[in-house]
Amino acid sequence: MFENLSDKLELVFKKLRGQGVMTEDNIKDALREVRLVLLEADVNFKVVKEFVEKVRVRAVGTQVLQSLSPGQQVVKIVHDELVSLMGGDEDNSLDLAAKPPVAIMMVGLQGAGKTTSCGKLARHLKSQRRNPLLVPADVYRPAAIEQLQTLGRQLGIETYASKSDQDPVVICRDAVKYAELNGFDTVILDTAGRHQIDDFLMSELVRIRDEIDPREILFVADAMTGQEAVNVASGFNERLAISGVVLTKLDGDAKGGAALSIKAVCGKPVKFVGLGEKLDALEVFHADRLVSRILGMGDVLTLVEKAQSVFDEKEAARLQQKFKKNQFDLEDFKNQLQQIKKMGSLDSIMGMIPGMGKMMKQLGDAQPSEREMKRVEAIIDSMTRDERANHTIINGSRRLRIAKGSGTTVQEVNQLLKRFTEAQKVMKQLQKLGPKGLMRGMGG
Ligand code: GDP
Repeated sequence: MFENLSDKLELVFKKLRGQGVMTEDNIKDALREVRLVLLEADVNFKVVKEFVEKVRVRAVGTQVLQSLSPGQQVVKIVHDELVSLMGGDEDNSLDLAAKPPVAIMMVGLQGAGKTTSCGKLARHLKSQRRNPLLVPADVYRPAAIEQLQTLGRQLGIETYASKSDQDPVVICRDAVKYAELNGFDTVILDTAGRHQIDDFLMSELVRIRDEIDPREILFVADAMTGQEAVNVASGFNERLAISGVVLTKLDGDAKGGAALSIKAVCGKPVKFVGLGEKLDALEVFHADRLVSRILGMGDVLTLVEKAQSVFDEKEAARLQQKFKKNQFDLEDFKNQLQQIKKMGSLDSIMGMIPGMGKMMKQLGDAQPSEREMKRVEAIIDSMTRDERANHTIINGSRRLRIAKGSGTTVQEVNQLLKRFTEAQKVMKQLQKLGPKGLMRGMGG
């Protein structure tokens, strides 16, 4: 995510961190670079200007100049100001507390990912024990209705039977009534999009809004379109008074400008981010976590939440015990890999582990691909039970046998054993540190 932006900020920070003594001039130079990096990332010009000024004022405060690690302090200020730029620790959860059925209206340009986001959101709400009804109200784009119906079927979530010759306002009104009569507590309205903002579309959306009075109007923005997404968001906000933004396609090579400026420019928070085409690729937006990811500090909290959603509690307690007694073995290692696979693509998970994103880039092609993961499993499968329980008995001849059995090489077996012993060491350290120590370790 935002690779270019991350890399360039990392370079600026590296210089800063290395400076033992800091002067106002040093800070100015560094901020000039930060400014360029942000402009290159397509962050709104005014936003950049205000941002840099805020950081400067805080950074030239005597505290920073006289502190023991002034460079590190400036990095922290940039971090904090980026977080506050994107909404700080504001609560971005949906406002669904009204009498059911509560309506969520999804709006945005064609191709931004509106229909996909409707499906993702329905899935998210279902996982929170709500009972959503999907409502296709885009009668203009051919196949838009079927697209939502297909998503609904995949998710096991009902889709309202709209017809393309109906008035969208009537569809939405009838769908809300249908939801009320049939026990749905949330209605997700997938409205029509256009390639650009136009009056016809806007007045239709206003009519739907006035008829339904939705609790949430979420503008779906394609992060790849940068400043354009921010301008369009402002346009929709002026006409409709949106309540928040769903920023899609952050998994692609979006530069970051939309994510960094949308809140500052239109005053409405990003509530969700889309990180892929699949229906589970939606995350609740947290400014601090995103900034940590951009700055290569990882996102341990999201990782832990994801882990909690796929790991079974008994298994976690069992592992905890094993760590304590120092009995974590290769069999557990393999199980862990399988659990990790359930959490999503390896790339996305690695990006959340502090320092890992950068390490993977350095490794280049050698980064752990899904294919390599399979190889690791094959190697462990070729071991005997005793070997898995106690890897120290795996001598040269055993290594050869395992390599042959798994269709790999002795070198690869050695590599795996080395990685496993390293993992064991890390686990031991984490165990000692506890969650607080872990955060300290990340510099958070
Ligand atoms: P709509 O016209 O706004 O309803 O857009 P769609 O939901 O049909 O999405 C347009 C395209 O963007 C589809 O190919 C989606 O699979 C893709 N898409 C939507 N959200 C994401 C996302 O978060 N990441 C990626 N990579 N693709 C997405």
